[in-house]
Parts: sequence; structure tokens; C-alpha cells
Amino acid sequence: MAKVRLRWGRIVGLLVLAALLTGVGKLLTAELPPAPETARAAPDLSALPPVEVCWLELSRSDVWGQLGTAGLTRTKTWKNTASGLLVRHPEGDVLIDAGYSPNVREEIQRRPPLQRFFNSMALRGTRDETPLSAALQRVGATPEGLKWFIPSHAHLDHLGGMVELRQVPVLVSPEEEALIRDWRHRKEVYPEHAQAVEGRMTAMAFQPKPYENFGESFDVFGDGVVVVARLPGHTPGSIATFVNLSPTRRLVHVGDTVSLTESIERRLPKSTVLQLFTDTDPDTAGASVARLAQLHVLAPELHFLPAHDRDAWEEFFGGAPGCVKAR
Ligand SMILES: [Zn+2]
Repeated sequence: MAKVRLRWGRIVGLLVLAALLTGVGKLLTAELPPAPETARAAPDLSALPPVEVCWLELSRSDVWGQLGTAGLTRTKTWKNTASGLLVRHPEGDVLIDAGYSPNVREEIQRRPPLQRFFNSMALRGTRDETPLSAALQRVGATPEGLKWFIPSHAHLDHLGGMVELRQVPVLVSPEEEALIRDWRHRKEVYPEHAQAVEGRMTAMAFQPKPYENFGESFDVFGDGVVVVARLPGHTPGSIATFVNLSPTRRLVHVGDTVSLTESIERRLPKSTVLQLFTDTDPDTAGASVARLAQLHVLAPELHFLPAHDRDAWEEFFGGAPGCVKAR
């Protein structure tokens, strides 16, 4: 009897050791394979109109850094932000992302149990909540002045705020429009948010015109200020949005393809937990991260703006929400 127990003890011990080694191995080998070699198609930025770009912070929280990337994360505390990016263009304002709905806590209660649990966890510790209309007002903008709302993707913390702005035209990638329309069968989209934008969505007409290291692009005003590229994986129609203030002052909003800029610099996917719970297709998301890592090398002047990485927003906007112009 004692012998049998000893043997079982050894087997369990070996299994635990194997699990530990696999875990450590995963931490050390998280780096993604590089993107296929692509020549850079540098845009012509010589005739940009004068524009201003504003950071509208809608809520924030602090998260354990290790949840930010796969591998051993260097960021100790992930300063998490839910923010809108407002581009003030001579032809009208463009808003990228709208934060949570003011009714998010009620909306969550109507979701399936696992999603309810995960979304409630994500909301814990959230502070400094500001309604979207108030954030617009703070920088002197109005809902009527918005020519377009562009969601980086259709998740609750990017589309939800649109329940407040039911008149603004919405510009989306064709894949995300299809996802939103299919809300009855897709858990990624909250019904309240789909219904808030239904009937006023326009699908972006991507052109086979290379832009940086992307094969296609969509230029919102046709003047090079706001240019969109497909960045699928987190959701089918996730996008990267380039905003060019001048040839040297440029940013690219990358939605939730990564949580931290560190992921782009080190070619690391999101943490396994976030991949499992938030990415529609983690492999495709990984390829999109590799493409961003390649872009970072090709165009070092570009400032990367992951939707939730407050450090990256602080760096571009000089520490706090507000507006900046071309230098
Ligand atoms: Zn998000």
C-alpha cells in the first residue's frame, strides 16, 4: 500500500513539474514569428491641412502589468485607460472610440454568465468616469460637429458610449459592420450598442493602395490626415487608424490588437488570459501584432497608441488629456 502511494506521489510530482516547466517555457518563448517581408509604402505628407487631435479620457483603472502581454511583462502596473481620440479636421470632427455606455453595469447583467463575470472583472477599480458628451464639451467640441464616429472595433468599451450619441454617422470596416449587424448570434457585441448604431453605419471602401506595410487602405478625407488599415484578429474587422498632424508628428491608434506598446516593441501577443477571453481569432491577432512590430521598425517616427495603454497616451499628449497640434 505504501509503495503504491509513493508511486502515485511521484507521478503527481512529475506532472506538477511538467506543468511548471511548460508555464516557464511559455513565458520565455512568447515572441511571435516576424511578419513576412514587406516594402514600405511611405505616404506623401507634404500637403496636410492644419488639424488638432484631442485625448478624451472616459475612465481609467490600474491593472497588474503581467496581464498586459504574454511572456514576462516589463510594465509593472498597466495604467489602463478607456479613451476617445478626437481629430478636429477643417471638414468636421472625427471621433475614434466612445468608451463604455453610461448604463454598462445594467447591460452586463443581461449577458451570459461567463461574459458577465469577465466584463464585471474588467470594470472593477474603474475610476474617473466621464460621460462622452461631457468629455467632448471639455475640449470645446459638440456631437453636432462630429462628421464621423469610427470604432476601432465593436466591443463594449469602444462602442458602448454611442448610446449617448444616436445621431452621429458611423464609419466602420465592412467586417465589423457585418459583426454588428449579426449581434443576435455574436456574443462580442452588446445588443444595446448594436441597436444604437444600426441604420447609420457606412462601410469603409478599402482601396488596393499600399500604405506603410499594409496592402490596402482607406483615406477618410482623401487628404492623408486620417487613414485606416485592416488589423484583424481581436475582432474580424478591427482596424489601425493613422492620424497625421505633420510629416514628423504622426500617430497610429491600434485598438485592442495589443494592450501595451511593449508588445509591439518586443513582438509579443497579449497575455494568454486576454487572448482567450477577448480575441475572436488569436492566431490572426498574433500576425497583426507582428505587422505592427514591423511597422515600428520601418517608420520609427510613428507613435503607437494601443487603446488602453495610458502611458502611450500620456507620452503623446504630454501627460494629461487635452489637445495637440502639429509642432
Ligand atoms: Zn477594449
